[in-house]
Amino acid sequence: MPELSVHSEICYGPMKSGKSLFLIETSQQLLKQHHSFLSFKPVQDTRDGHFIRSRQPQSQHIQALAVASSQDLWRMIQQALQTPRTFFDKLPSLASPSATGSVLPLRQTFRCDSALRACLIDEVFLLDAELLKVLQRVMQAGVSVYLSGLDRDFRGEYFPLRQLGQDMLSMEDVIGFCQKKMAREARCESCGQPATLTQRLINGQPAPYDSPTVLIGDEEYQPRCSAHHQVLGASHLSAAS
Ligand SMILES: [Zn+2]
Repeated sequence: MPELSVHSEICYGPMKSGKSLFLIETSQQLLKQHHSFLSFKPVQDTRDGHFIRSRQPQSQHIQALAVASSQDLWRMIQQALQTPRTFFDKLPSLASPSATGSVLPLRQTFRCDSALRACLIDEVFLLDAELLKVLQRVMQAGVSVYLSGLDRDFRGEYFPLRQLGQDMLSMEDVIGFCQKKMAREARCESCGQPATLTQRLINGQPAPYDSPTVLIGDEEYQPRCSAHHQVLGASHLSAAS
């Protein structure tokens, strides 16, 4: 059994605030410590394929397993814990060999000869309301969790996770759950001041309050400070603290 040093950490903030870089730096530390770990990413986020990627040009990308739900994540971690050799053999190899060097492959981070010590989850706000139950089980199994994602939606409200049955959960709960919390700021694209919010623009115009929380389309996002964050049809934005 691993010693009792199971962590939960989250890095959150608006877009372009260096959240994914936190996971990439964490992966480098885990590699140095020779800890076996796995990286995950919700299937909804297809922008970067199955990789955790930072906007920093020099930084390495991490190959990640795509998960459709929190339960899916738990199933994979159970397999990794119970039958590590079989799990290792089934890990996807890198699609493009030319990417080798700039990409950290799953087969390099997951070791079947030692206990799984950590899991990294990018864009965690795209998961569902069973997330906290699953994170508890993962940690009880001796696996630390490192999370990254937006804390607030385009309205400036805590991002609601996908509802399952009666269970409701927002990023406020996920942040509250984690032992270590790191809030990141970006630069407002209007004034250059620190930005804690994410502006959604549709055809260059602020999106209406009642547009869907998760939207896959032609919209565009920019980090903004509270003075330059606009939501159509919202009379007043509660201050993001
Ligand atoms: Zn501003």
